[in-house]
Amino acid sequence: MTPEQLCTCPLADRCAFYQRNKNFRPDISQQLKQEYCRGDFGRCARLRVHDRVGNEWVPLQMLPYHREWAEDILTDVTNSGIPVCPQAPAPDAF
Ligand code: SF4
Repeated sequence: MTPEQLCTCPLADRCAFYQRNKNFRPDISQQLKQEYCRGDFGRCARLRVHDRVGNEWVPLQMLPYHREWAEDILTDVTNSGIPVCPQAPAPDAF
């Protein structure tokens, strides 16, 4: 495993932001990829929602820095009483 692979988010191969961000401005998306996906991915809002309640709760439009939105989703899901299965295998993209 290369040093770059060690620092890349484990979900990069199926994350919609990482894989399909052509709709975002390239200068911004590249900066975010560098900062989060190939850097401090533990701070990523998408990863947090994915890991806590499952990929089906990650909005496609969510960006890595949308941490407040992520917390709102986690609170809503927790308060809803809906069973969550964060360990379920992710589909091709989330
Ligand atoms: S956006 Fe977040 S979940 Fe997606 S690859 Fe980057 S760090 Fe991982």
